[in-house]
Amino acid sequence: MINKFNEPIMITRSLLPSLDNFNNQLKEIWESKWVTNNGPKNKELIEALKDYLTVDDLSLFSNGTLGLLLGIKSLELSGEVITTPFTFPATVAALEWNGLTPVFCDIDHVTLNIDANKIESLITERTSAILGVHVFGNPCEVDKIQKVADNYHLKVIYDGAHAFGVKLNGNSIGKFGDMTIFSFHATKLFNTIEGGAVTFKDKTLSKKLQLIKNFGISGPETVELPGINAKLNEIQAAVGLEVLKLVPEERKKRHHIKQLYETNLKSIPGIRILTKHKKQESSYQFFVIEIDKREFGMNRNQLHEMLKDYNVFTRKYFYPLCSNFSWYQDLPSAQQKNLPIAHEKVEKVLSLPFYGGVTNQEVKQICDIIEFIQTSASNTSSE
Ligand SMILES: *Cc1c(COP(=O)(O)O)cnc(C)c1O
Repeated sequence: MINKFNEPIMITRSLLPSLDNFNNQLKEIWESKWVTNNGPKNKELIEALKDYLTVDDLSLFSNGTLGLLLGIKSLELSGEVITTPFTFPATVAALEWNGLTPVFCDIDHVTLNIDANKIESLITERTSAILGVHVFGNPCEVDKIQKVADNYHLKVIYDGAHAFGVKLNGNSIGKFGDMTIFSFHATKLFNTIEGGAVTFKDKTLSKKLQLIKNFGISGPETVELPGINAKLNEIQAAVGLEVLKLVPEERKKRHHIKQLYETNLKSIPGIRILTKHKKQESSYQFFVIEIDKREFGMNRNQLHEMLKDYNVFTRKYFYPLCSNFSWYQDLPSAQQKNLPIAHEKVEKVLSLPFYGGVTNQEVKQICDIIEFIQTSASNTSSE
């Protein structure tokens, strides 16, 4: 028998600054009385993030979803957008709120990203863009996608919510396609509690995004376009400034935890560990495994449930598929026969607890529990 944890082990724990450091930030904000509307903390955070992400420009938003929604809005798209069913609901909701129809494309069986080889066959006269997601921080096939987009004059947007700090061949992930959005939600490695950012290729979008997220107001008596309110406030920006200082150390810790998981899980039958691309620097956002029911002795859902008995809380990201939402399930592209890999993978993937604060001992115990469950399962199934 293996002991359960006394306290629940959750999937993640937000990276937060020390209260002292945060108080110093707050003191400055209180003294300046500038609490929102593009204040000094916003400006400071933009510079720090441009530096960290090595991008020329970026626009901050009150959350990643509004960044995506309004980023797409700024591109003035119409008709259909080819995207993945294997993502967080926000990706596809951002299309919906722009009056765009998603066309679901199946995913790659290794990276679980949109399958770049299947995009072209889904293009119609109504297609205006491709919306890829760097799932679990692993980059999409950006070169292939760009080639298809160039051939058909389509825009390329990336949901990079998991990809903060990812580099591909030494290039920042925020430099591919026409636009990339990042989420700074509390569950993301770098966070402002709620928040997000958009990076973009077309320099004129800088002003447009600024207008869109601030009611379209460009001066005391001028409103240039029908905007909305999606500003990051100064307190969120201050959290970001402090959390960003902690990111390098957190990445190191997660790197170590990732290695520890890999070492301890690799000999367990029926587990595939999702690894990163060779020429890529990881986002360390998630640690994800795939369960092969036959080899492991039980399916992902059963493992997910059993782990709860040991006080280990895992997540089935991204279950259910967006193509299964009732408002999309009748779309031709949403049919199961067109999305075989997505349907297979969504039943297999499991995200394990992953944050700098998990101890070596805890990781080891989680792996021992999984091994024990596997051994017991295979003993029962072979009886
Ligand atoms: C977290 C996440 C979002 C949403 O970001 P918020 O900042 O929470 O609005 C969008 N897409 C993906 C893939 C995400 O994981």
